[in-house]
Amino acid sequence: MPDRAPQPVERQLPTEESRDLLALVRDMIQREIAPRAAAEEDAGHFPREVFALLSEAGLLGLPYDAEHGGGDQPYEVYLQVLEELAAARLTVGLGVSVHSLACHALAGYGTKEQQAAHLPAMLGGGLLGAYCLSEPASGSDAASLRTKAVRDGDDWVVTGTKAWITHGGIADFYTVLARTGEEGPRGITAFLVPGDAEGLGAAAPEKKMGMKGSPTAQLHFDGVRVPDSRRIGEEGQGFAIALSALDSGRLGIAACAIGVAQAALDEAVSYATGREQFGRPISDFQGLRFMLADMATQIEAGRSLYLAAARLRDAGRPFSREAAMAKLFCSDAAMRVTTDAVQVLGGYGYTLDFPVERFMREAKVLQIVEGTNQIQRMVIARRLVGPETR
Ligand SMILES: Cc1cc2nc3c(=O)[nH]c(=O)nc-3n(C[C@H](O)[C@H](O)[C@H](O)COP(=O)(O)OP(=O)(O)OC[C@H]3O[C@@H](n4cnc5c(N)ncnc54)[C@H](O)[C@@H]3O)c2cc1C
Repeated sequence: MPDRAPQPVERQLPTEESRDLLALVRDMIQREIAPRAAAEEDAGHFPREVFALLSEAGLLGLPYDAEHGGGDQPYEVYLQVLEELAAARLTVGLGVSVHSLACHALAGYGTKEQQAAHLPAMLGGGLLGAYCLSEPASGSDAASLRTKAVRDGDDWVVTGTKAWITHGGIADFYTVLARTGEEGPRGITAFLVPGDAEGLGAAAPEKKMGMKGSPTAQLHFDGVRVPDSRRIGEEGQGFAIALSALDSGRLGIAACAIGVAQAALDEAVSYATGREQFGRPISDFQGLRFMLADMATQIEAGRSLYLAAARLRDAGRPFSREAAMAKLFCSDAAMRVTTDAVQVLGGYGYTLDFPVERFMREAKVLQIVEGTNQIQRMVIARRLVGPETR
C-alpha cells in the first residue's frame, strides 16, 4: 500500500485576501523553506536570506497597521501563517514570532514620531528584531532583572547581561527591558537599541538540543548609550509593556507548536500507511489507529484554542488568560504528539533519517520559552483563585 501523502490543513480564513496570502506562504515554503530545513538545522545555519524574502513579501509585519508598513491582518490570519511556517521549519516560524514580539513595544507604546522613524524598516524594510527580557539570574522571575539604564543628559547608559536572546548577535534591533528605578516591576523601562550600538556585544550562541539554526545568545551591554528618543513608553512602564507583548507572543508560540505537531502527524500517517508488519500496513492495527486519532484530536483542539484567543484579541477583548491556556495546551500537545510520532515510526523514528526526532526536540523548547508552562498555569490559576497569599 502506498504512503498516504499529507493533505494541506483546511483553514477557515476570513477574506479572499487572507486566502491569497496563505497560498503565497505555501508557495514560499515549498520553494524556499522546506527543501533546506533538515540540512540547515543539522548544520546550525540561520536562513537570513529567507527572512529577507519574508520581509519583502510583507510577512514580517502581518499583524501591524498598514500606516507604518504592516500587513493589517487580523491575528487569526497571522497565527495560521505562523503555524504553516513553523511546520516547515520552527527556526523560521519562531523567528517571525520573536520579530513580531520585538516590534510590539514600539507599535503599541511608541510616540507618533518614534513610529514614523523606525517602524517601516522594522515591519517591512528588511530588518530583523530580538526581544531582550531574560537574564542569567532572572528567567521566570523576570521582574527581578538587573540590567541597568542610568540617565546621562539626553542619553541612557545601559549596562548588564541579557540571556537566551533569540537572534542575539545577528539582530538589527533589540527591544530591551532595563532597570531605571526601584526594585520590582515598576522600576523597569523599555528601549529600542540598534544592533550596531557601541558597547553591545554577543557571546557565542548556546549549543542547544534543537532549533540549532536559530541563534540564541547572551548579550553584553557595556555602557551602551541609548538616546532618550529611543525610550519606549514612560519610565517605569517597561514591565507592563513586556507582559503585554508576551500575551500576544504566547499566541505565536501556540501556533508554532501546532505547526510542529501537525508536521509530526503528517509524517506519522504517511509512514504508518506505507510500513507493513504481520503482512499488513501498521495503520491497520487498532493500537496505532487510536494513537493517530488522539494525535489529530489534540492538534485540532489546540488549533481551536489559539484561534479562539486570537479572535478575542481581534475583537479588542481581553485575551491574556486564553493566551496562557493556548500556549500551555498547544506546547504540551506538541510534546505528546511529536513523542508519539517517533513511536509510530519505531526504530526509524529514532534516527536522523526521518524528521520526527527533530520535531520532538523542537517541541520541547516551546514548553519553556515566553513563560514556562508552570508560569502559564500560575497565570491561569490567578484568574481562578486570585493571587498567591505569600
Ligand atoms: C531557545 C530559547 C530561546 C529563548 N529566547 C528568548 C528571547 O528571545 N528573549 C528572552 O527574553 N528570553 C528568551 N528565552 C528565555 C526563556 O524565556 C526562559 O528560559 C524562560 O522564561 C525560563 O527561565 P529560566 O530558563 O531562567 O528558568 P527558571 O526561571 O530558572 O525556571 C527553572 C524551572 O523552575 C520552574 N519555576 C520557576 N519559578 C516557578 C514557580 N513560581 N512555580 C513553579 N515552577 C517554577 C520553571 O517552570 C522551570 O521548570 C529563550 C529560551 C530558550 C531556551
